[in-house]
Amino acid sequence: MTIRTIFCVGRNYRAHAAELHNALPTEPLLFTKPAQAALQISNKTPLSLPKNHGSVHYETELVVRLKTTYDPTKPLAELIESVGLGLDLTLRDVQSVAKEKGLPWLLAKGFKNSAILTKEVPFINEPWWNTLQFSLTKNNEIVQIGKVSDLIFSLRELLDYIDEQFGLGANDLVFTGTPAGVGPIHPGDTFTLTLGTEVLGSCHF
Ligand code: ZN
Repeated sequence: MTIRTIFCVGRNYRAHAAELHNALPTEPLLFTKPAQAALQISNKTPLSLPKNHGSVHYETELVVRLKTTYDPTKPLAELIESVGLGLDLTLRDVQSVAKEKGLPWLLAKGFKNSAILTKEVPFINEPWWNTLQFSLTKNNEIVQIGKVSDLIFSLRELLDYIDEQFGLGANDLVFTGTPAGVGPIHPGDTFTLTLGTEVLGSCHF
């Protein structure tokens, strides 16, 4: 699986911004993860938690993969290859210190294996995308539910913005933000990522 740049969006669902006591953004809040932070999971893939860096939070997100050089005039179906789900793993205590001190988020967001990726399904078209819903199950309990219709910045707005600022092309991934319900991961936890009714991947810590 080739990956070029991993772009991520913070605070793209109102209820999640509120749960971390953050103001709503007026333009997309972006950060990146190193491409080598990516780790593909399949079925109950065993993973380990980073040690000695405080709490590690899960954030479940829809992830899109670009198939060609972005062009804001073309339909999304011509630009996006596929959609998967991802866990944007976050060292929450490290991030809180970074926020307080005005430091970059790289240590909190870009550590090894911090971009967990499921298998992907083909991107059909924008009306299809707009109906997507996803969920995260933690040890048989649903802890996160997301709907594309709840995004603050639409996929088109995100991609236009990222392309304008940085450029966007084939094999770039975009994590589109997490809904409410983020929380810490403990050893022994199993997570299942479901798009609609289809399980795309699961992992065990
Ligand atoms: Zn995130």
